[in-house]
Amino acid sequence: MLVFDKLFINGQWVKPVKSQTFDAIDPSSEEIIAKVASGTEEDVDLAVKAAREAFDNGPWPKMSGKARAVVLRNIAAGIRDNIEAIATLETRDNGKPLPEAMWDIGDAAGCFEFYAGLAEELDSNNEETITLADDRFSSKAIKEPIGVAGAIIPWNYPLLMAAWKVAPALAAGCSMVLKPSQVTSLTAVKLGEIVEKSGLPAGVLNIITGKGRDAGNALCDHPMVDKLAFTGSVPVGSQIMKSAANDIKNVSLELGGKSPFIVFDDSDIAAAVEWIMFGIFWNQGQVCSATSRVLVQKDLYQPLLDRLVEETKKIKIGNGLEEGVLLGPLVNQNQYDQVLAAVEKGKAEGAKLLVGGKRPEGFDKGYYFEPAVFADVPTDSWIWNEEIFGPVVCIRAFDSEEEAVRLANDSRFGLAAAVMSKDKVRCDRVAKALRAGIVWVNCSQPTFTEAPWGGYKQSGIGRELGKWGLNNYLETKQITTYETEAPWGWYIK
Ligand code: NAD
Repeated sequence: MLVFDKLFINGQWVKPVKSQTFDAIDPSSEEIIAKVASGTEEDVDLAVKAAREAFDNGPWPKMSGKARAVVLRNIAAGIRDNIEAIATLETRDNGKPLPEAMWDIGDAAGCFEFYAGLAEELDSNNEETITLADDRFSSKAIKEPIGVAGAIIPWNYPLLMAAWKVAPALAAGCSMVLKPSQVTSLTAVKLGEIVEKSGLPAGVLNIITGKGRDAGNALCDHPMVDKLAFTGSVPVGSQIMKSAANDIKNVSLELGGKSPFIVFDDSDIAAAVEWIMFGIFWNQGQVCSATSRVLVQKDLYQPLLDRLVEETKKIKIGNGLEEGVLLGPLVNQNQYDQVLAAVEKGKAEGAKLLVGGKRPEGFDKGYYFEPAVFADVPTDSWIWNEEIFGPVVCIRAFDSEEEAVRLANDSRFGLAAAVMSKDKVRCDRVAKALRAGIVWVNCSQPTFTEAPWGGYKQSGIGRELGKWGLNNYLETKQITTYETEAPWGWYIK
C-alpha cells in the first residue's frame, strides 16, 4: 500500500488541515493501492496564498524566460529519468496499457521541454510595436504573466493533462495550484516530488489532491486566483464558469466531445479500420476527442463493418501491465456502470450491437469492458448524440459529402473530427466545413504539443498547447508614450 497523505504547498509536503485521505483503487483488481491526502477548502486557501505570495513578491515572474526554461528542462529531465516508474504508476492508477502510459509520460516531458523553448523566446519576442494613426505617440504591446492560476484536471491522461497546464503556466511566469482528479492522483504527487528538486521557487507550483466538490470548488471560488484552467466534463465546466463569473476570473475550458469520423468510399479498408479502432478504443475510449460517431459512405459500409467487427474481436483485453494488452479496464466502477448503461440504452434505441458491450469472459474482477460496435445508429438516439467516454463506437452510412458534413456538424460538441479519403482536395474541403477545433485527415487522434488544442461550441473555450497554450497564461498590456513636448492642448492653448 502506497501512502501519499501529504499535499505540496509552498515547497513543503504537509498533511491536510483535516488529516483526511481517500483511497486510490487499481481498476484491474479493484484493490486499494494507495491512501491519498484529501485536501479541503482550508488547504486550498493555504496553497493559493502561497501561490499569491510567490507571484506578487517572489522571483519567478520577474526572472528571464531563459532562467525559467532551465527549471522547466529540469522538470522534463526528472520525468524522463523516472519514465518507467511513473508510467507503471499511471497504469496501476488509471488502467491504461503500459505502452500508452509510456507515450503519455514521454509526451508530458516533451511538453515541459517545448514550453522551455517558448519561455526563452519570450525574452526576445515579448514586445510588439504598434503603429498609431497619431505620430505624436509611440505604442507597444507587451505580454505579462496573468498571475495565480488554478488548474483542475481529469483522470483520463493524469500526468499529461497536468503538464498541458503546468508547463505553459510556469513558462509564462505564473504561479499555480494544481488539483488532479481524485480518481487518479498518484502521478501528480510524483510531479510534485520532481518539481521539489527542479529549482522552482517555493510556492510557484502547489499540488492539492482532493475531491472536486471540496478542493476543486474552493479553488474556483478563491478570490486570490486570477485564472482557472479546467479540463473535464461539460456540467462541471459550466459550474466553473459560473463561479469564475463572481469575480471575473479568466477561464479556459477543455470539455467533452462526440467527434465524427467521415470515411469516404475511396479509402483503404485496412487503414480506415485501424484509425477507427484507434480513434475510439485507444485509452479504452476514455478520450475527449475520441471519434465516437463514424459515418461511412454507402458502398464501403458493409465491407468496413465486417472487417471492423473481425478486428475488434482480436483486441487483447487485460491488465495494462501485461505484454500485448491493447485494452485495459475502465477507470472505475462509476465509469463501468455508465458505459454499460449507455450500451443498454443504445440497444433499446434500436441501434444494432454487432460486437462487445459487456464484461469479457474470464474477468471476474476489474472494470473490464469488451469494445463495442453499434451499426445503423439512429441520429436522434442518445448514444449518437451523447458522450459515452468508453470503447463504444456508433456507425451509420451516408450517401453524399453534403450529407456527411451536415450529420457530422449536427452536434452540440465541436472538439474534434476526422475525414478519410484518397482525394486530398475533398479532404481539405471537408476539413474546412467541419465545425471542430481539431480536424484529422486520414488519421484520428495523433496529438502534437506544437499544435493548438481545444473545442468549438460546448467543447470549450480557448486553446491549449503550442503558442496558444502559452497565451492562456499571459495578459497583454499596451504601453503608450506621448513623444512630443508640445502641449496636449486641452486647456493649455
Ligand atoms: P469531471 O468534470 O467529473 O472532473 C474533472 C475535474 O473536475 C476533476 O479533477 C474533479 O475533481 C473536478 N471537479 C468535479 N466537480 C467539481 C466542482 N464542482 N468544482 C471544481 N472542480 C470539480 O470529468 P472527468 O470525469 O474527470 O473527465 C471526463 C470528462 O473530461 C469527459 O467529459 C471528457 O470529455 C473531458 N475531457 C476533456 C478533455 C479535453 O481536452 N477537451 C480532455 C480530457 C477529458
